[in-house]
Amino acid sequence: NIPRESPRIAPLDEAAINRIAAGEVVERPASAAKELVENALDAGARRIEVAYADGGKTLLRVSDDGHGIRAEDLPLALSRHATSKIDGSDLLNIHSFGFRGEALASLGAVARLTVTSRHGTEDAAEISVRGGAPGPVRPAALRSGTRVELRDLFHATPARLKFLRSDRAETQALLDTLRRLAMAAPQVGFVVRDLSGGGDGRVVLRADPEAGEGAEALLGRLSRLIGKEFAENAVPILAEREGHHLSGFAALPTYSRGAAVAQYLFVNGRPVRDKLLTGALRAGYSDLLSRDRYPAAALFVSCDPMRVDVNVHPAKAEVRFRDPGLVRGLIVSGLRHCLAEAGHRASSTVAG
Ligand code: ADP
Ligand code: MG
Repeated sequence: NIPRESPRIAPLDEAAINRIAAGEVVERPASAAKELVENALDAGARRIEVAYADGGKTLLRVSDDGHGIRAEDLPLALSRHATSKIDGSDLLNIHSFGFRGEALASLGAVARLTVTSRHGTEDAAEISVRGGAPGPVRPAALRSGTRVELRDLFHATPARLKFLRSDRAETQALLDTLRRLAMAAPQVGFVVRDLSGGGDGRVVLRADPEAGEGAEALLGRLSRLIGKEFAENAVPILAEREGHHLSGFAALPTYSRGAAVAQYLFVNGRPVRDKLLTGALRAGYSDLLSRDRYPAAALFVSCDPMRVDVNVHPAKAEVRFRDPGLVRGLIVSGLRHCLAEAGHRASSTVAG
């Protein structure tokens, strides 16, 4: 029964557009946390506090001591495709975590959202979104930085709500995401509290700002987040190929795992889940591990932003290198070389 007259075409309203976009950007509490913590890091935060309840389903709050948002800019921060991070002229040259300007707009479409912020010596202010519509900017109390609070994620999209997993599973995903971001920023302090059940909550993750710089700071953070045993069994990885750099730490084959649970991969400081990189990590250990064992490693690939596209996916979890073969080769040979060298050193110490 095809209608005889064609239906009229009408543009979607802003709230509907945001709800649709939210489907891509915000999959679960962990993805909301990722967007909020990335915003805090982009704002130059030195300390980030995350609080959640019920796996982030009922409450997720991220507070930072970054540069804050001007009161007059608060409505813009919530509107779609408004960003302070790029001017749109050079989408291939991106240095911040964010740039699509849609995280807060999307979150406001699928949760009760309040952003409170203080910029410099201005008075603090806040704005809330209810039912997809931003309210007025109001005076607020906040010493510095920004606090973003999300309540009742997906209450407006029951279909999506149904896809959320148990509080336990959502908590695990949330903490995994936060751990990855904390590895990407060793100089930033992180405290994560579980407020389920009320009160001040329970600290579930704490990583103080690491002393030192570079590899030293990173190893301190990995020790705290993956475990002392990892740090004691890890060798530093360092390699370079045509302007692409590989660094980080990889565990000796003796410290392998029964599942791919301790594999942390970063591209230009951004945590990613990428088949090319995981495949290369595996291949780097192929002569050293049996098929049912998985290497543990935290590897950082960095290159000119022009040589990798991070704008493949709205959540930016996947990346596309201009020269994937080169990146694979860099990782495989970098790992083999550094692991072999560590093996030699170990055996010569035993012999001597
Ligand atoms: P994007 O990060 O892609 O720019 P968002 O929707 O995540 O888009 O944020 C919109 C804008 O709001 C940012 O460009 C930034 O100017 C501002 N903003 C968001 N979170 C913070 C924060 N924690 N501190 C300072 N500014 C923020
Ligand atoms: Mg953002």
